[in-house]
Amino acid sequence: MIKNIEINNQKDLNKFYKRLFIYRSFLYKKVTFTVEKDKYNITDIINALNIKKRKQRLEFIYDTCCKKIDDFYGHKDICHFKNNKCLVQEQLGNGNINGCCRLCPFQSTKGCQTRNLTCKLFTCSEVQKRCPVIKFEDLNLLKVLTRRQRHIIRSSYFSKRESVLFDLYIGSILLWTIRIVIRWLYGFYYVRKHIYKH
Ligand code: SF4
Ligand code: SF4
Repeated sequence: MIKNIEINNQKDLNKFYKRLFIYRSFLYKKVTFTVEKDKYNITDIINALNIKKRKQRLEFIYDTCCKKIDDFYGHKDICHFKNNKCLVQEQLGNGNINGCCRLCPFQSTKGCQTRNLTCKLFTCSEVQKRCPVIKFEDLNLLKVLTRRQRHIIRSSYFSKRESVLFDLYIGSILLWTIRIVIRWLYGFYYVRKHIYKH
């Protein structure tokens, strides 16, 4: 069955967003969504709704948002790294390196070794003063997620892509809290032991 989504104004758009919880449910498993004249940039949402396997849908949402952020910044170095120090570390002169990643086990002098959507969405006030930034609210594709999943995306720093996707799949805040605390504690221990051992 085909369901064409027609959005002519902001009111229709808000109505569409409110209905997303039902469109992503099993009730619409056999429905293919289409959109004509995509004035409000919802094609990615439509594509996500047309992926009926939950795991694949989550991967699509996660990777598409990561790509949108990368495209937005055009792979520019907005943190002005010099000798592995970001502009804030350069200003503070406290000897720290690798910017916000300095407490993370996935850091490297060549950048992040995984793909973390939460970290990609973070910018400090110094960066915000210097250039336009993309924020959580700018990614309308995230509206396809549940409220709990959006909370997980907002706070899953220092984690690898696969761990975040697992947490999104399970969608439990309690389990996520336990898992992320363990991950962070292990990550900080790992960093002290293996990365900054000298
Ligand atoms: S966001 Fe700010 S503090 Fe973090 S790495 Fe960039 S410049 Fe440094
Ligand atoms: S997961 Fe986040 S904090 Fe860790 S290296 Fe990647 S971007 Fe940095």
